[in-house]
Amino acid sequence: MVELNGDTMRVSLKREIDDSYDLVFGINLFPQIAQDLKKSPIGSKYAIITDSNVRPLYAESLEDALRTEGIPAHTFSFEAGEQHKTIDSCMKMMGEMSRMKYGRDSAILALGGGVVGDVAGFMAAIFNRGVPYIQIPTTVLAQADSSIGGKTAVDTDYGKNLVGVFKQPVRVYIDVETLRTLTDREYRSGLAETVKHGIIRDEAFFRYLQENSGLILEQSADSSLYIARNNCRIKGDVVEVDPDEKGLRKILNYGHTTGHAIEKLSVDSFESGKNTNYLLHGEAVAIGMMVAGRIAIALGYFSQSDLRQQEQSLKIFGLPVVVPNEMPNESIIEITSRDKKVRDGKAQYVLPVSIGKMNEFNGAYATYVTNDIVMEALQ
Ligand code: NAD
Repeated sequence: MVELNGDTMRVSLKREIDDSYDLVFGINLFPQIAQDLKKSPIGSKYAIITDSNVRPLYAESLEDALRTEGIPAHTFSFEAGEQHKTIDSCMKMMGEMSRMKYGRDSAILALGGGVVGDVAGFMAAIFNRGVPYIQIPTTVLAQADSSIGGKTAVDTDYGKNLVGVFKQPVRVYIDVETLRTLTDREYRSGLAETVKHGIIRDEAFFRYLQENSGLILEQSADSSLYIARNNCRIKGDVVEVDPDEKGLRKILNYGHTTGHAIEKLSVDSFESGKNTNYLLHGEAVAIGMMVAGRIAIALGYFSQSDLRQQEQSLKIFGLPVVVPNEMPNESIIEITSRDKKVRDGKAQYVLPVSIGKMNEFNGAYATYVTNDIVMEALQ
């Protein structure tokens, strides 16, 4: 009931929110997705949002599976790549959806890697003031990380993920079979976040990765499912405790302070024509974890033998562990000091204590580190 108090009127909108959702794991899940939506629809029309690489691989078979169940669906896509994770891509697809009479009663299916998940999730948050969406991640990174937790965003000229909202999906379908079409390099790069999960939260999972690297690199169905389930369990656990990244959730950023800077320098140098290749996100994070590990040793938290194990695990999966020669350490530090979380010129780092355990820093789970210590860790 609207209350009037003098010249002030109060509209009471207190509400309880239950954003819980299921993650479904398996192989060849498209028919099941269609059957589930037939049984419990989340919209009357489904927009499959995907990118130009994933579209020819999987969009048609998802559309076919939906049509078999009599569910109306169309595919909308944008150019693949981080540089197209923009509001412009969203606007173009939302325009097409509106032209095809998609409205308030529609739902979105995000079919692709982390870029698609972030774009489609963001569209779901704003299209017609919000429609439900389902994540169908198709990269190791998206299945391990980005499809869970409800962070959605697009990039702007001023920075990555600067415009976005939290919007939880209704469900996540993790079909490990889709990973088979990834390039070997993309697949290995995604494993960096998997190794990270072992280090930040679960020593037994870390050992599993060390002991089963052969099966993992062959992409045996059992190991792919085991990895997917454990990645999601670890990320899900952390997100449940700290959905808004006030404390514990920061541990997911292990390796990312330096990793983001290295990734940016590498992409910039590629785009300016100075380099013929650039580091993928996971590759940059792998190097970032080595730098963070060395910082943790310098501050007396982590041991040399744990660092060696971390290095060995990253190397088994063909991930880089040293800063590329052509990258000046000063430039890396310069970029990390531009971050919005910097204090007194010092960037924040998430640091391990041992394999499976991170330093709590009195509930902050990150600490400011002086540039001279970072400089040494970069050597
Ligand atoms: P991506 O989505 O760009 O996918 C990598 C490449 O693989 C792309 O070229 C894509 O077209 C292609 N691809 C995707 N699936 C494929 C398949 N099954 N077979 C063949 N090719 C396929 O990159 P990514 O590494 O999956 O995700 C990176 C993005 O995720 C970044 O934008 C990052 O900011 C975001 N991210 C978000 C969160 C979050 O919580 N929302 C967390 C981590 C990362």
